[in-house]
Amino acid sequence: MYKKVKNYAIEKGLAVDDKAGIAYGKINGCFLVIHQDPATPGRHTIQLWMKQGAAEPYPSVVDFDNQCPSKFKYLQTASYSGTKVIAEFWGNGLKWGSAYVPCIDAFLKEITDYFRTNQLSTCCETCGIGSGLSLYQIESADHLFCSACYAQTSDQIQKSIHEKAKQGNGNVIGGIIGALLGALLGVIAWVLIYQLGYISALGGLVMVICALKGYELLGGRLNILGIILSCVISVVMLLFAEQVCLSIEIYQAFREYDVTFFEAFQSVPAFLDEPEIRTAVISDVVIGYVLMAVGAWGTVRQALKAGSGKQDVKKLTPVAGNSTTLR
Ligand SMILES: [Zn+2]
Repeated sequence: MYKKVKNYAIEKGLAVDDKAGIAYGKINGCFLVIHQDPATPGRHTIQLWMKQGAAEPYPSVVDFDNQCPSKFKYLQTASYSGTKVIAEFWGNGLKWGSAYVPCIDAFLKEITDYFRTNQLSTCCETCGIGSGLSLYQIESADHLFCSACYAQTSDQIQKSIHEKAKQGNGNVIGGIIGALLGALLGVIAWVLIYQLGYISALGGLVMVICALKGYELLGGRLNILGIILSCVISVVMLLFAEQVCLSIEIYQAFREYDVTFFEAFQSVPAFLDEPEIRTAVISDVVIGYVLMAVGAWGTVRQALKAGSGKQDVKKLTPVAGNSTTLR
């Protein structure tokens, strides 16, 4: 979590869960969650759950939200679903670092004051009731549910896991075709980058990602078999891509002697006997494989997590509803 926001959260008495990337708790009597964007330090989603009590709030929550982005520099949007306010903060522009946290603080002060003055209450985001609430993190999204709504949601999650498991291996033939087509895009990328004179090994990264995505797209499901097949296809296609590049060079050098492209392609192994060429080719291929491993890692990790049948559900904390409001 971005250090300044984390320090602010601690100062306000919020609980900080660095691994989950969130801070949560009550400020000014109103329960809220600050969610850190995993990629950008100065990007946070703040969620507050609120429902009107006996009296109509003035202005309405929607109107209040609409007015906010013009008042707070780093607040991009604020929306209200009927039970939940979602405010997106983004510290863009120069020198945001010093003004960002004060801006969040000012917004939180204003919205929690609004919450108190209008006697709003913290509520379940699905049904709106105010008791038995807990904060959950499901697939790294934050939800405030009552126990009944949580039970329902977790039932649905179980069902979808079940359905995924029933799909079995998916369509392996389709997957292989998809991986081949994907890897072919990678070959094209490799050859083009080579022609432009850049590090063609970058094509290895493109190749493996396209192969894995291709398998998933046409095979329906990227499981361990799919990952292995896609990686084997990519490893072979990388060698093919390098051979194509060399063939083009040979063809261009010997074209005037009536050498065809196919003959050039066939003569590549003979050229590899030249130590200078061999060294260059080996370094191309090795860097290509390293980048391929880098490219595969993220996709494979994601696929294994999704395919493991385990849904990432975590109960973070029980939340007391607002007792000042009668239901
Ligand atoms: Zn509920």
